[in-house]
Amino acid sequence: MTRREFKRVFNVWFKILRLTHWEIYFDWDTEPENDIALASIAMEDDYDIAHLRLADGWKEWDEYTLNRVIIHELLHLHFRDYDELLDTAVRTLSADAKDLIRKQAHHEVEGLIDRLAHSFVDAHGFA
Ligand SMILES: [Zn+2]
Repeated sequence: MTRREFKRVFNVWFKILRLTHWEIYFDWDTEPENDIALASIAMEDDYDIAHLRLADGWKEWDEYTLNRVIIHELLHLHFRDYDELLDTAVRTLSADAKDLIRKQAHHEVEGLIDRLAHSFVDAHGFA
């Protein structure tokens, strides 16, 4: 798969998920910070700007994985305001409580986003 082919699929989901007001930078030469992640998307403090990173090996992803990973990362953009709320909500807590709640919330959001990404791909006809 080429960068052009990746972007073609990316743009399909970018429109379907109604995120075209975002400005996305493709950091082709930088891998996600998390070693086991297939991809990551980092949002800038300024609104609606994000950087997408792909793990080494993305060119070999099958069609299902390609679509699922793109959807997963794009859905994170919809959670930006929730993430901001969470950061505000835990601000007054102790460091331990803050850490515990952030980890639990992160785990739950990752699970939700991943289930939704699978559902979107299945609904789109790759099931
Ligand atoms: Zn994720």
